[in-house]
Amino acid sequence: MKGLIINTLNYFKTIFQTSNSLNSSNSSNSSTMYKTVFIDLDDTLWDFHANAKSSLQEIYLERNLEKYFDSFEQYFNFYAKRNIELWEMYGKGTISKEALSLERFQHPLIQVGVDNAPLAKEIGEQYLGLLPTRTMLVPYAKELLDYLYPKYPLTIVSNGFVEVQYKKLHSCHIDQYFTHVVLSEAAKALKPDKRIFEHALKLNAATASETIMIGDSYEADIVGAQNAGVDQIYYCPASNTTDNNNPSTFRVKRMEEIMNIL
Ligand SMILES: [Mg+2]
Repeated sequence: MKGLIINTLNYFKTIFQTSNSLNSSNSSNSSTMYKTVFIDLDDTLWDFHANAKSSLQEIYLERNLEKYFDSFEQYFNFYAKRNIELWEMYGKGTISKEALSLERFQHPLIQVGVDNAPLAKEIGEQYLGLLPTRTMLVPYAKELLDYLYPKYPLTIVSNGFVEVQYKKLHSCHIDQYFTHVVLSEAAKALKPDKRIFEHALKLNAATASETIMIGDSYEADIVGAQNAGVDQIYYCPASNTTDNNNPSTFRVKRMEEIMNIL
């Protein structure tokens, strides 16, 4: 009996730690203090990784890229690793959108000794056409939007390209949930620059202290919101709740945990 009670207490303790802050200065009456919610799009709502993979798989087959690579997995791994590095560089402003768009498709080809910039450019253009038609969402993203929509005005805050982000929202039938869509190119600032958040606050006529940002990128979403004085929910599916290295107002492993916070 005693063991059962201790197990039950530990269970509730775990739930509490998972859904609350790791530096919980303001976790007590959280849901009443927020009036506006900002949300990242890629890999927070829209499953970027899965959608990118299925788009590239189609291109890989259509263009017979198996003549260069051992397998699609090999091709995709080259692409995915370099793509993350390039987006980090783009976020810091050290490379242009054009350089990112070309280099991420040139890199896998160069790894197997194929120096063919025109082919990389064609793949890039085809990819940007296919990608936003893909519709896989992160698990429970739709349920979360259904839950949040009647309670808060919702704004997308994303570094993604203008020509694809609106199409993604439309393809997945989630565009109707958002009062505003704030993209870095229009705001003239990339997350983690606080100016993109300030632009979103202005559009909502909201203050930083009554707003919360949900996102999967620690560097862009969480540090960015912190720069603007906005609280944060760090969506980290690989999260370890004892990891204190990346502090945020809240941290969740699964989307549905956000319903316990907001
Ligand atoms: Mg993201």
